[in-house]
Amino acid sequence: MFKINENYLKLPGSYLFSTIGKKVREFSTQNPDKKIIRLGIGDVTLPLAPKVISALHTAVDDMSGKDTFKGYSPDLGYEFLRQAIVDYNYKSRGVTIALDEIFISDGAKSDSGNIQEIFDVDNKIAVCDPVYPVYVDSNVMAGRCGNYSFDSGKWSNVIYMPCTKENNFAPEIPTEVPDIIYLCFPNNPTGSTITKAALQLWVDYANKVGAVIIYDAAYEAYIVEENIPHTIYECEGAKTCAIEIRSFSKNAGFTGTRLGFTVIPKELKWGEVTLNSLWARRHGTKFNGAPYIIQCAGAAVYTEEGRKQTKDQIAYYMNNAKIIREGLHSAGYTVSGGVNAPYIWMETPKGMTSWEFFDYLLNEVNVVGTPGSGFGPSGEGYFRLTAFGSYESTIEAVERIKGL
Ligand code: PLP
Repeated sequence: MFKINENYLKLPGSYLFSTIGKKVREFSTQNPDKKIIRLGIGDVTLPLAPKVISALHTAVDDMSGKDTFKGYSPDLGYEFLRQAIVDYNYKSRGVTIALDEIFISDGAKSDSGNIQEIFDVDNKIAVCDPVYPVYVDSNVMAGRCGNYSFDSGKWSNVIYMPCTKENNFAPEIPTEVPDIIYLCFPNNPTGSTITKAALQLWVDYANKVGAVIIYDAAYEAYIVEENIPHTIYECEGAKTCAIEIRSFSKNAGFTGTRLGFTVIPKELKWGEVTLNSLWARRHGTKFNGAPYIIQCAGAAVYTEEGRKQTKDQIAYYMNNAKIIREGLHSAGYTVSGGVNAPYIWMETPKGMTSWEFFDYLLNEVNVVGTPGSGFGPSGEGYFRLTAFGSYESTIEAVERIKGL
């Protein structure tokens, strides 16, 4: 008789966004005349940039020609894309990354969920609290997290690093030493960032204790302030302790198109074994490449026009962020984030729980956000709004909330 991976059974309840979806559907069925504004899920809304679209068309035409047709892509991804990444994401910031340290993938969700596979089950992870749920859930599936307590909202074998207003939503080095540390900056869900000096402390710590940092920089393109690192490799010594994960979803609207990459420097070793070689083995065995067409679209993001057009899209979303942040602040709410990230993190008013505030906003002003507690116990009492809506709906949502 076969056996299942019983770790899956440990995962509690339905996923945050399914619960939100269900509540919103029920509300719409009961109130068909109400216009709901969704500032909940972190999906983009602007269409792909013209330069990306034209690259897609050209790549599709390539697939129709006998001499230009492409089958399987190289294991690590096409060199034209990896070279653009090396030049624009790293060299431009004074960081040297080799072509074979970059692994093209179908997005940061898969990479951040799969990367744990190259580590022994007997490793202890540390995560920010609140956190993007994929890091914890993927480790639960692997059997690394112990048991879940509904009372505390925590796993018994996970080190939680609370990120609250008391520490300006930046994690502090934990008292218990972790083996794998997940960091994400600019942060989802809090919209907070980390200075280069603060990130350097994490790099120094990881090198000292022999931990690995998994650095999710999916929102790097939203950084506007000067002293915020765009890549962890701006920190000295990061190549011996950090893996960086990136995405084309939020910088170029590829949430439905799917493209991302992971960087594993060859200096990152366990004894004589490079983590790069393990991930290369895993990638070659379990992944057959992001489509040629999509990799061409990704390369178009790095062209002059592509960079300008995607920058304009980010500016559009960040204008929304400013409208939300300043609008809610002027209405007396305590808000953070929304400066170097498309997420605004607000404190729920009048001592409401995150879900009470969710229901209140949905019922009273028909605005949907995301309850902070869905991202971890320290998210209780907070609420996330995203800047990914349209300008018009963002203005309207803020006006509605201000009128409460
Ligand atoms: N990492 C973080 C922190 C995210 O917030 C998201 C998406 O919301 C992802 C990764 C997923 O990125 P992708 O669309 O490339 O899978």
